[in-house]
Amino acid sequence: MQNLDQQAYIAALEWHLDHGANELVENSPVTDRSAKIVLSDDQPVIEKNKNVIDTDLLPEIQEINIAGSTQLKQKAYELAAKVSNLEDLAEVIKNFDGLDVKKTATNFVFSDGNPGAKIMLIGEAPGADEDRAGKPFVGICGQLLDKILICIGLDRKSEDINQAVYISNVLNWRPPGNRTPTPQEMDIALPFIEKHIALINPEYLIFCGGVAAQTLLHSRDSISKLRGVVHQYQPQTLQTAKSIPAVATYHPAYLLRTPSQKAKVWQDMLFLKNLMRK
Ligand code: URA
Repeated sequence: MQNLDQQAYIAALEWHLDHGANELVENSPVTDRSAKIVLSDDQPVIEKNKNVIDTDLLPEIQEINIAGSTQLKQKAYELAAKVSNLEDLAEVIKNFDGLDVKKTATNFVFSDGNPGAKIMLIGEAPGADEDRAGKPFVGICGQLLDKILICIGLDRKSEDINQAVYISNVLNWRPPGNRTPTPQEMDIALPFIEKHIALINPEYLIFCGGVAAQTLLHSRDSISKLRGVVHQYQPQTLQTAKSIPAVATYHPAYLLRTPSQKAKVWQDMLFLKNLMRK
């Protein structure tokens, strides 16, 4: 038997569903949607809108996340250090409770493609289609990505390691409402994706979009600055003498919004192909 409160909550949820609101957009309710988030020295500062009644909920949540992120990254680092194969890494990330995005996602999204590939491509986080399918880059962005890769003879389905691509994301859970992952989330996930790269041990890396490129290159430069050069990827949380040549390019989602930039991605792909020939 449901009590009155439960009935009221269910009625409110049904009302939202009837009006087409069928997914979560944030991890927690936002009480002041007009508050401005200002990035200063890595720490988001919430500038409150003085005209809105404020319950202080938003700043509190932010402070908890920021204070907790170092410890959570340390925990992720310790877990990642213990694993020595992909299956165990996937299991460890799946069971890790330090990322709130896990609570709102439907499926864990680890990777796709050939683990023996010479090329590993890394995006930022799964979207709605990926969340449903449990595989990275399968939606409209993924279809565009596949076309881009095919142009330079690469194919995630290939069994030939010279043509194959292995694909993953920095974050393995879809952020609610497809929002951009926060710097804290990327930081906590860093030990996992760095271990993932180490286990695949590719000859080349492609970072897809500014968020993935900045996270893995430990840079604050924009994607337009990061593309067009060969970077030497060096993990921050692993001791290794070997660096991996890495190129960054625009995210397919950006290309779908700004098709005029497709020529630049074409240049990036040719740049990568030339690099692989050397
Ligand atoms: N965008 C990403 O960065 N990764 C995906 O898997 C899908 C969309």
